[in-house]
Amino acid sequence: MSNVLTVFAALTAGLTFANPASPSSSQQRLDCPNDAALTAGMNPTLAHVRYLADDALGGRAAGTIGARCAAQYIANQFEAIGIPAAGPDGSYFQGFPIRAGAVLGGENILRTPQSSYTVSEDWIPYGYSGSGAATGVLLYGGDGINRPGQPNNEYATLDITGRIVVVEDGDLASPASRALQTGAHFKASVAAGRNASGMLILLSEGRALPDLFGEIRAALRIPVAAVRGEAAERIRQAARNAERAALVASVQPRSVEARNVAALIPGSDPTLADEVVIIGAHYDHLGLGGEGSLAPEAYGEIHNGADDNASGMSGLIEIARRLAEGDRRPARSVLFLAFTAEEKGLWGSSHYVRNPILPIEQSIAMLNLDMIGRLEGRTLTVLGVGTAEEWTDVLRAANQATAEPLSIATAPDGFGASDHSSFYGEGLPVLHFFSNTHVDYHRPSDDWEKVDYEGLDQIVDLVSEVALDVAGVAGSDERIALTPIPPDAALAHGQDPSASTSGGYGPYLGTIPDMVPVDFGLRLTGVREGSPAADGGILSGDIVVEFGGSEVGDIYAYTYALQAHEPGDSVEIVLLRGGERVTVTVVLGDRR
Ligand SMILES: [Zn+2]
Repeated sequence: MSNVLTVFAALTAGLTFANPASPSSSQQRLDCPNDAALTAGMNPTLAHVRYLADDALGGRAAGTIGARCAAQYIANQFEAIGIPAAGPDGSYFQGFPIRAGAVLGGENILRTPQSSYTVSEDWIPYGYSGSGAATGVLLYGGDGINRPGQPNNEYATLDITGRIVVVEDGDLASPASRALQTGAHFKASVAAGRNASGMLILLSEGRALPDLFGEIRAALRIPVAAVRGEAAERIRQAARNAERAALVASVQPRSVEARNVAALIPGSDPTLADEVVIIGAHYDHLGLGGEGSLAPEAYGEIHNGADDNASGMSGLIEIARRLAEGDRRPARSVLFLAFTAEEKGLWGSSHYVRNPILPIEQSIAMLNLDMIGRLEGRTLTVLGVGTAEEWTDVLRAANQATAEPLSIATAPDGFGASDHSSFYGEGLPVLHFFSNTHVDYHRPSDDWEKVDYEGLDQIVDLVSEVALDVAGVAGSDERIALTPIPPDAALAHGQDPSASTSGGYGPYLGTIPDMVPVDFGLRLTGVREGSPAADGGILSGDIVVEFGGSEVGDIYAYTYALQAHEPGDSVEIVLLRGGERVTVTVVLGDRR
């Protein structure tokens, strides 16, 4: 086992972080680092980032002790300010189970007539491996990459039906390539789609066996395993000699409890208190790297996530303080939500909109803070202004009301790579405040010392003004009524549905994926109006299970299948709708 696993196991198994200074009662229970000692003498904005981004929280991966300590710290801050808890059980927490890797089950066997191999030493099933047995003649498939139109494209024409396919890890033609189709998961998904009975991936020299701890992808239909070292060489020979083999894999998914944090300032105007303004930010980050990290070579190093998103968390707490302690009392209620598992795929906010603490119909807007710590005199980006008629004016007025108005750039789309997307999917007007990306994004170097605290305070000023404008101020007649522009009306408002906020080129379909996994397939939370998907008759709520003949077990397999096509291609898509299988044909568009 690599030291990464030891550290990770420790983080998830509740290793004590005992600190001599007197920890608070809840920290004692959780053995979290003592914030008072860590942040002594610091102003609150800095203190929140300093604590949340400390190495001792291990990069706050959802489901870990570090994330739990972060959630406890956030709840303690709301409590200290005097903002009541809003969790469903009366606490500050909304707990829910999340997929957190996998563990090996009882029976894992790899053997050929000559040899029997040791699991976790010579080989190991991947965390997304199917559990089951495959026996038969091994089939060598080179590196298992399909190279359409190229001379050396043998793998594409190989009949792998019912075979245990043996392929090299990565891309033999360009070993440094990190392209999608060089990944083990991609190769295995394709092999499952081509009805192989199993797959063995031969790791290149010196590579460690994959660990199952962080795996969040759905189990594939077939057993898939990695083989390393001398065992890999012997399996390679066995495959070249078409020897028989048996592969038995038993992998059990693991789930742990993750927590959103919720606190509520009740509205002080009885006629409006039922209406809710939501202000949110995610507090989780990438932990020790891996999935989502832009520094794959730094796997095992703590990704501190100071800007992403300890800064947004700090902003959320300080906005809450302003609204709770300021002399302008919000007329409408204001719900503060700290989301977990955003880095996993917006799981925390998706869970909230599906299990709202206060009815979504009573929620009138959502303000999202994600990466507001690196303004550095630059322009602040505010996304989502196209989700309500009045946003541009509200933003301008709020900015003018601050002590130091900011330079602001806006973008209309309410869908994007953060938690506001989950709320826009429900038709709520949303805004995402973002001080832009930087070289430390999703790397271990995203540290608290690099955060621009003055810029952060300015953004807190601005968002507090926006919040008060939308919530209204008790005793003032000024009231703003937002006119939502829901996703299916965006086109009529001149928004180009194919202009995705995530940019990129290639085939376009126009579906909005639900990032929370379902048992099998990819559920859609929306379909953009006027898009190829809408024209093809795909509906919100449909579950995609097949795309162009490839099986779609989750969002990864969906992405692979889409990227294997070209704009203009006509593709058959199989959907589950109300339990029925429905087949539609779409002509893919061009992403611009
Ligand atoms: Zn983030």
